[in-house]
Amino acid sequence: MSGPGESLSVLLEESPALLSAFAAVFGLLVGSFLNVVIYRLPREGKGVAEGRSHCPSCGHAIAWYENVPVLSWLALRGKCRACRGAISVRYPTVELATGALFWFVFEHLRVRHEALDFPWALLFVLWALLAVLLAASMIDFDFQILPDVLTKPMMPLGVLCSALVPALHREHSLIARWKGGDYTWLHGALDGVLGMLAGLALVGGLRWLASKLAGREAMGFGDVKLMGGLGAFVGAVGVVFVLLVGAMLGSVMGLLNVLRILAVRAVRMSRRRAQRPRWRWDIAWIAGRVIPFGPALSLGGAVVLLFRSELNVFLFQTWPAWVQGR
Ligand SMILES: [Zn+2]
Repeated sequence: MSGPGESLSVLLEESPALLSAFAAVFGLLVGSFLNVVIYRLPREGKGVAEGRSHCPSCGHAIAWYENVPVLSWLALRGKCRACRGAISVRYPTVELATGALFWFVFEHLRVRHEALDFPWALLFVLWALLAVLLAASMIDFDFQILPDVLTKPMMPLGVLCSALVPALHREHSLIARWKGGDYTWLHGALDGVLGMLAGLALVGGLRWLASKLAGREAMGFGDVKLMGGLGAFVGAVGVVFVLLVGAMLGSVMGLLNVLRILAVRAVRMSRRRAQRPRWRWDIAWIAGRVIPFGPALSLGGAVVLLFRSELNVFLFQTWPAWVQGR
C-alpha cells in the first residue's frame, strides 16, 4: 500500500475513534447533500449543483447556519425561519440515516481488517454506492421513478470499480473460482461485466414476464438499469442474491401495501357499490406502480454488499439445515 492509504492506516491505528467520528460527521454532510438531490433531481429544470437551497413554501434562501445537518432542524423546531412553514422531518431523518450508514460501513470494515490493510478504496466505493442507492430509493418512493442520472452511470462505474478495487469481488469471484491463480484487474472487470449482464437479463426477463401477465407495463425499466448497475458491483452470483433478498423485503413491504389498498377499496365499494375493477388491472396496479421495487432492490443490494459472507452461510448452511429439521 502507498500514499494516502498508508497515512490513513497509521491514523487509524493511532486514533480509531477520531476516524469513526469523522465517518459519522461526513455521513451527516453527505446526507444533507442527498436531501438536495432527492428534492431537485425529479423536479424538472432544477440542477442539483445550482445555487443555494430555498424554502419550498416561501422561497427564503437558506443560510449555512440554517443548513447544519440535524442541528438546524432541531433549533428551528422543524419550521422555516422566514415563513414558519413546516420543514419535513424527513430532512433530518435522511441526514441521520446517512450518518449512521457511513459510520456503520466504516466500523463493519474495521472489525474485519487490521489497520494496516484497511481497505480504504472499498470504503469509499461502498460509501458512494450506498449514498446513490439511498437517494434513488427516496426518489422512487416519492415519484415511482429511478432517474437515469443515478442508475445508468452505475453500470460503467461498477465495472471500473470492479477493475480498480479487487476487494469488491475477490472473495466471491466466479472467475477466480473457475480459473484460480492471481486475481488481477482484468478478472475484476470481467466479474463486473458478467454481473451487469446478469442483472440486466434477470430483471429484464422478470419485467417482460410480469408485463405479459398483467397485460400492461409492470415494473419500471429503471429497476432493470438499477440491477445492471448493482450487478456490476456485486457480480453475477451476487446479483441473484440481491434479487432474492430484494424480493423478500419487497414482498413484506408489498403485503402491507396490499392490505392498505384492500382496506381502502372495501371502504369505497361499500360506500358507492362501485363496479368491481377488472382483475388484470388490479394485479397491474398492485404489482406495478403502487409499490416501487427500487427501494427493496437497493436494500437487497446493501445487504449483499455488506453481508455477503453471512448471507452465503445462511443460504447454503443454516437454511437447508433448518428445512431438513436438523
Ligand atoms: Zn419559508
